[in-house]
Amino acid sequence: MIPIADYHMHTPLCGHAIGEPEEYIRNGIKSGLKEMGFSDHAPLVSHRDPKITMDFDQLPIYLKMIENVKKQFANDMIVKIALEADFIPGFEQKTQDIIKEYPYDYIIGSVHFIRTWGFDDPAQRESWSSKDVNQVYHDYYELLRQSARSGLFQIIGHCDLVKKFGHRATENMFDEVKKTAKVFKDSGVAIEINTAGLRKPVKEMYPSLDCLKIYCQSGVPLTFGSDAHAPNEVAKDFDKAIDLAKTAGFKEYLIFKQQKVERTIKL
Ligand code: ZN
Ligand code: FE
Ligand code: FE
Ligand code: ZN
Repeated sequence: MIPIADYHMHTPLCGHAIGEPEEYIRNGIKSGLKEMGFSDHAPLVSHRDPKITMDFDQLPIYLKMIENVKKQFANDMIVKIALEADFIPGFEQKTQDIIKEYPYDYIIGSVHFIRTWGFDDPAQRESWSSKDVNQVYHDYYELLRQSARSGLFQIIGHCDLVKKFGHRATENMFDEVKKTAKVFKDSGVAIEINTAGLRKPVKEMYPSLDCLKIYCQSGVPLTFGSDAHAPNEVAKDFDKAIDLAKTAGFKEYLIFKQQKVERTIKL
């Protein structure tokens, strides 16, 4: 058994994904998914980088592209239209302007930047060597909390992405995670189990089992995402994701429609 919905996948418009949405959906059907949400990287609000996100003038192309496959596969797949938007403090209004342009089914809010540093960007990986890893973790969790409090997002993406390249804090981060889980609960945001971490140097899902237990105990709801950047990554390792969710104590996960919880599905 796998989760029926994969809520995190990309398109070539972001500049670092391959394959047409149609191919993603065909693979999703083969994998047994009932629902797929495209959540490509929304235009960056702080600067331009065509290797990281689509540009503003590509948004209409993105929407048309996903609306087309939604119609094309109407009998075989429920297709949701979403975005993964960067959380960058000071740019909340600009982010809000993008989100309110269209009735998106949900918005994944992701922290990929600490100040101007794209800490998970392979092109900026070298900067890690000059950082205090504990401080990076503290900064990261503070940004996660701010992103939830912003009210811009329904789902917070890969909520321990800071571990991507394998850098580990030497201080215990459980207090940070507990604080963050409480803010998530109070803000009404969900998290995702994102299987892409298994394909990164850290070789571990986002978030880890220990973190997931804390989110579960705090009452934060769950979604699932493969973070596919290629068609063959759709629903990747979803069998392991469902095991992890159950082990962490989760009993159900959420389905979104037009930025509201449409229903919950038992695990
Ligand atoms: Zn990406
Ligand atoms: Fe991301
Ligand atoms: Fe993503
Ligand atoms: Zn992502």
